[in-house]
Amino acid sequence: MHSGVDALLVTDLINVRYLTGFTGSNGALLVVDSDDEDGPADTIVGSSTGSRDQRTLFCTDGRYTTQAEFEVPDLPRLIDRPCDLALLRGAPEGIVGFEARSVTVADHGAMIEVVGGSGRPVELAPTTFLVETLRAVKDDGEIDALRRACAVADQALAELIAAGGIRAGRTERAVGLDLDQRMRELGAEGPSFETIVAAGGNSAIPHHRPTAAVLAVGDLVKLDFGAAVDGYHSDMTRTLVLGTPADWQVEIYQLVQQAQAAGRQACELGATGQTIDAAARDVITGAGYGPQFSHGLGHGVGLQVHEAPSLARGSASIMVPDMCVTVEPGVYLPGRGGVRIEDSGVIRADGYDVLTQTSKELVVLG
Ligand code: ZN
Ligand code: ZN
Repeated sequence: MHSGVDALLVTDLINVRYLTGFTGSNGALLVVDSDDEDGPADTIVGSSTGSRDQRTLFCTDGRYTTQAEFEVPDLPRLIDRPCDLALLRGAPEGIVGFEARSVTVADHGAMIEVVGGSGRPVELAPTTFLVETLRAVKDDGEIDALRRACAVADQALAELIAAGGIRAGRTERAVGLDLDQRMRELGAEGPSFETIVAAGGNSAIPHHRPTAAVLAVGDLVKLDFGAAVDGYHSDMTRTLVLGTPADWQVEIYQLVQQAQAAGRQACELGATGQTIDAAARDVITGAGYGPQFSHGLGHGVGLQVHEAPSLARGSASIMVPDMCVTVEPGVYLPGRGGVRIEDSGVIRADGYDVLTQTSKELVVLG
């Protein structure tokens, strides 16, 4: 292990899933730095002895005994709860890292008691972003899942538009439910997050929640949504217009389109999150709309819809092959309307490989 710890107690469930494949709602993992990780996988019930092998060990509770046999076949499995304390009782001597961002003050207090009562020289050390950093770079299977998630979202939007589902007189909520239903029918486990449908003045609110507001001719309609497939989350925004677009709508649309292209162009190996953000932001600022682009340019996508790396001011994250990130500039004019265009894609040696295939030309409906 390269992190200065002899073992790492992984309690963040997403990180546990990433490392083991376990999809249940309660589980933890003690990753032990050991040369001898061989040996039969087995299930251990209870943890009273405190003298287990010094091997990486998975823990869940009795509800998941069978599921864990299938999902985590290669690791010895402990059935006990609470999982963090059960694993800690058998931790090796030395420094045991824990995930500071997923451990509450109460959890930490209980961990200190267990270590203090063990009579063994174990030191707890907070860590951050160890597994998250690994997660930022995807393997082929993960990229394939993201590609399929993006394809579901593309297809659902195409079908929604073809069916006339985005039209004056419908509510934001009805459009959102329609889109969600189509994604499920196309094989999604569900939406990646609460689908955003924002019409008219609401489109100027970056993270508007769908309401009973009724779509009307002359509205910009902003749709930000994604599909979850095999646990991986797509994320895409498209903005359409109902009826003949006004000049100001075309102006900000084309501006965001140019900024988004500049952002994609800047997604090169070795670029930082900050420089990519700046490439898109400079286009918008240059046109006088800098203050109206009120959020970062993008974020990593994967097992979570927002994860490392960040494409934003102050982000020192360096792009390496197979990071998956969004590029999503926006311009929001309060009370009037806003435009955001967002793709999910992969950082490659030859540039940004866009996974979301829906056209980024302005779509005029009705
Ligand atoms: Zn989004
Ligand atoms: Zn996003």
